[in-house]
Amino acid sequence: MVIIDNFTNEKLVFITDMIVVQKFVFNSFGVNTYVVSGKNHECIIVDPACMNLKEEKELSGYIHDNHLTPVMTVNTHFHVDHILGNSFVCETYGLKPIAHKNGKLFWETAREFGSVYGLAIQQVIKPELFVEEGDVLKSGDLELRVLYTPGHADGSISLVNDSQKFVITGDVLFYGSIGRTDLPTGDYDLLKESIEQKLFTLPGDYAVLPGHGPETTIGYEKLNNPFL
Ligand SMILES: [Zn+2]
Ligand SMILES: [Zn+2]
Repeated sequence: MVIIDNFTNEKLVFITDMIVVQKFVFNSFGVNTYVVSGKNHECIIVDPACMNLKEEKELSGYIHDNHLTPVMTVNTHFHVDHILGNSFVCETYGLKPIAHKNGKLFWETAREFGSVYGLAIQQVIKPELFVEEGDVLKSGDLELRVLYTPGHADGSISLVNDSQKFVITGDVLFYGSIGRTDLPTGDYDLLKESIEQKLFTLPGDYAVLPGHGPETTIGYEKLNNPFL
């Protein structure tokens, strides 16, 4: 496993012999968008959060330059900062967002929620493809296994890749922190349960790729996370 960081941590490339995870940091909330691609050059986009032409070009340029074909786009949860690029990605690549059905409240209220944060959401594309705990998003040799991890927001999922040992956690678990629980459907006890009973059952050497901020590992957070 090789991790190449360009020092600003803005465009970390996480490469294994099988899988490439490219991270982008998009929009004023600093959301991590991940493009995960396998050997077959198909990719899954997680939390497309690009909010303007420059960010859209950055994402589509990477996909183009690396000869990738996006076959799925998935949202870890439907908070507005994580869905800002959904319409661009869906229109550009002919995809529908994949999400957990329990996030319904958030796609129904995304416009109002957005306006609270000064984000004008032109169009909310409702998911039509739903996943649940235990489902696997699969493209060639790339597999992302779904864990249902509510507590930060209903409908929050984490995506585990067991072959290359990483988990994309959205806003559930961060480096040295956990997701906020003061927004609608937030629940500290439930969040703690999601982390301790689901994420922390993964081996300690699994990399944690969060929805904001730098990478960490399951082992590091088990030992050092002050919120747990
Ligand atoms: Zn969130
Ligand atoms: Zn977020």
